Amino acid sequence: MTFRFRTTGSAGLLVGLLAAACQRPLVPTTTAPALPVETGVSQTLAEARKQLLSQVAYTLDLNIPAQKAAPIAGSEVVAFQLKDNRQPLQLDFRAPADHLRSVAVNGRPVPIDYRNEHLVLPARALVVGRNEVKIEFVAGDQSLNRSADYLYTLLVPDRARTVFPVFDQPNLKATITLSLTVPGTWRAVANGPLRDSLRTGATKTYRFAPSDSISTYLFSFAAGKFTPVRREVGGRPMNFLHRETDSTKIRLSMPAIFRLHGESLSFLEKYTGIPYPFQKFDFTAIPDFQYGGMEHVGNIDYKASSLFLDEGATKDQLLGRQNLIGHETAHMWFGDLVTMQWFNDVWMKEVLANFMADKMNPEAAAGPAQLLKFVTDHYPAAYAVDRTAGANPIRQPLTNLQDAGSLYGNIIYHKAPIMMRQLERLMGEKPFQAGVQEYLKKYAHGNATWPDLITILDAHTPADLQAWNQVWVNQPGRPLFDYQLQPATGQSTQLVINQRAEDGSDRVWPQQFEVTLLYPSGPVELTVNMNQRQVSVPLPAQKAAPTYVLFNPQGLGYGVFPVAPQLLDNLSTLADPVARASTYIALYENMLSGRGLAPRPLLDRYLGQIAHETNDLNIKLLTGQLSDIFWKFLPPAERTALAPTLEKALWQAMLNQKLPGEQKLYFKAYQSIALTPAAQARLYQIWQTQKAPAQVKLTEDDYTSLALALAVRDYVAPQPILPQQLARIKNVDRRQRLEFMMPALSPEVAVRDQFFASLKEEKNREKEAWVTAALGYLHHPLRQATSEKYLPASLDLLAEIQATGDIFFPASWLQATLGSYRSAPAARTVENFLAAHPATSYNPQLRLKLLQAADDLFRAQKL
Ligand SMILES: [Zn+2]
Repeated sequence: MTFRFRTTGSAGLLVGLLAAACQRPLVPTTTAPALPVETGVSQTLAEARKQLLSQVAYTLDLNIPAQKAAPIAGSEVVAFQLKDNRQPLQLDFRAPADHLRSVAVNGRPVPIDYRNEHLVLPARALVVGRNEVKIEFVAGDQSLNRSADYLYTLLVPDRARTVFPVFDQPNLKATITLSLTVPGTWRAVANGPLRDSLRTGATKTYRFAPSDSISTYLFSFAAGKFTPVRREVGGRPMNFLHRETDSTKIRLSMPAIFRLHGESLSFLEKYTGIPYPFQKFDFTAIPDFQYGGMEHVGNIDYKASSLFLDEGATKDQLLGRQNLIGHETAHMWFGDLVTMQWFNDVWMKEVLANFMADKMNPEAAAGPAQLLKFVTDHYPAAYAVDRTAGANPIRQPLTNLQDAGSLYGNIIYHKAPIMMRQLERLMGEKPFQAGVQEYLKKYAHGNATWPDLITILDAHTPADLQAWNQVWVNQPGRPLFDYQLQPATGQSTQLVINQRAEDGSDRVWPQQFEVTLLYPSGPVELTVNMNQRQVSVPLPAQKAAPTYVLFNPQGLGYGVFPVAPQLLDNLSTLADPVARASTYIALYENMLSGRGLAPRPLLDRYLGQIAHETNDLNIKLLTGQLSDIFWKFLPPAERTALAPTLEKALWQAMLNQKLPGEQKLYFKAYQSIALTPAAQARLYQIWQTQKAPAQVKLTEDDYTSLALALAVRDYVAPQPILPQQLARIKNVDRRQRLEFMMPALSPEVAVRDQFFASLKEEKNREKEAWVTAALGYLHHPLRQATSEKYLPASLDLLAEIQATGDIFFPASWLQATLGSYRSAPAARTVENFLAAHPATSYNPQLRLKLLQAADDLFRAQKL
């Protein structure tokens, strides 16, 4: 069953505005008008309900049939305390009206009053005090992620209301007592512990004990054909459901998965001073889960491929898994125990979870590896948005939960951790931890805002956190840095550093970073407290002028830092991998902003550097930038001319590495370029014989990716490559993914046209991860001559993508579509769309996402 999101026309909007204009205080004195019934969950409605309701509890029974398309019958009792019964009360339910079968309030049937995604309970049926509402309904399918033999919920941020009638706002925490009737061979897991299960004929009913008191976006269950694994870690039982079939992956991953959860829990108990606050701790691995993970209380969901790794896993993948498990586990305290009042602060739980995950990494003690991961993970991703005209601040207003999805993105996930680290640096580790502990204790099992946290932290530091908060959290953008040595001639006595806002505004980002002065006698590192527009740093006395100044060698400063010309041909002289990473990032940012080397000269420098770079995270960063410059900023003719040299250098760099993981990164870079017939023939040979070069280990996924790389290059093999690859894949989920993608890689333009046309139907966009991956190939630079024509329709679809898809889909759709174009006509298509859809008449958040995704395309016109 599909469901089309209802939009309010302009007449409806006007009515809404009028209604808002004549609103009275929340608890009316005599006969105030009722709250308007608007789509979504408006902030007004949420605030009113928060005043009126308490002690909310749901008892929910769902009957899930074996057939994926068959309706799911539901029955529910909502119990709550009500302070005032003079107004009707709205339950949120975003499903077709006929999904509501019957409603009874306090034992009496009432007529179904369903309007604008709300079930409206009549005032006369409600009482002051405890109420019970019994509802028979059909659950909406939209967020149940139904596959043939499993399903799972993903209800963040406001999707609980698509499944059942609910007060869907984070600050009305409730217990949920769930019972699921499923096909007899299925297993099930939910927030609450399993109480019992009963087999009746072909079905089985799982009854769960009441959950902890949790926000509605954390309601969760999964059911289907899963393999259960139960282990005890540090005295705590943990249940794990998964569908992995690769015995190597299982054998190699299972111990680590449990161990990492145990380690994360003990770290967090120690750091927060609060024992694990919920009844149970289980987790489930879902194939093609939309995110890396989701922190449902009592049952964390993970993307299976992030948990199950094999011997081919790179250090980066291993660290990524550790980080992911740390992140989701940290959410048990940060987000689940103390939850934001409203989704405008959703970033807060994300940044705190990230921050904790970075902290609990055991390599933190060793220092450099963790710092390098922090720098390479967060800075390029934060800049990718913050440098664009579509940049958003970390904290954004949100008037209706239905728009909450658009708040997510790189700024929340990557700039916020940088901000947090600067905040901890400003305060000191101990005062920061003390503040965080105070905050968790004060708001445990309740809700709090970011200003609540800042107010507590402010009391633990002499610094002015409110002013600091304004530029870092409430506004977008970043500074550009410049410097002079003074006096300019003779022996310099001070280093004068300036910062200015990239957007020309009059702002200062207080922050600390390092500079290294390179003297003939050796380096001297200083920490700069850049708390003003201009800061003068006295240089060490009795030294000659430094040969050059290396900015931000520890990578923690935020903005575009200058790179000394002396470094350009001597990148390999930077011995510290963090200093190299920071310099690569600065070089790339300076190139994009037109302040540094142009794309080709920078690529030439990188070509020289790949012979020297041996650190895996840096190889990933460097080859990623290199491939981006190659495909996104060089004209096709220049690419063709450069390819033989570049391929040769990458292959040689692979052979030079001692470790298989590092070899593999260079091999992947080689694969991403592979423009000459010789390189393609070599890749084909590797794919066909399944013999990886050197000590590189290639997994089934790698061979699939190799097959896709050959297909998008129209490599002519004796037998078509993709059908052969399909036959090699044993796992049904991975086979379906490839099957879905194959038409997008067809050598026939007509087949690709047809694939793109099929995406206009919502049902063909269900597996968003598949769609995004397929679009990446469809719009590969080698396909753009025939794919550019899809751009206008792709942009026209955006609003519908947002209305019908998951929260990251609009951004990933745009990125996969526009991300590798550089042509003037493509830029014009975007410009025309923006002109035809001004901010006054088009969803401003979507406009920002478009400006973000088109940023490289626009820059390519100027570089
Ligand atoms: Zn998270």
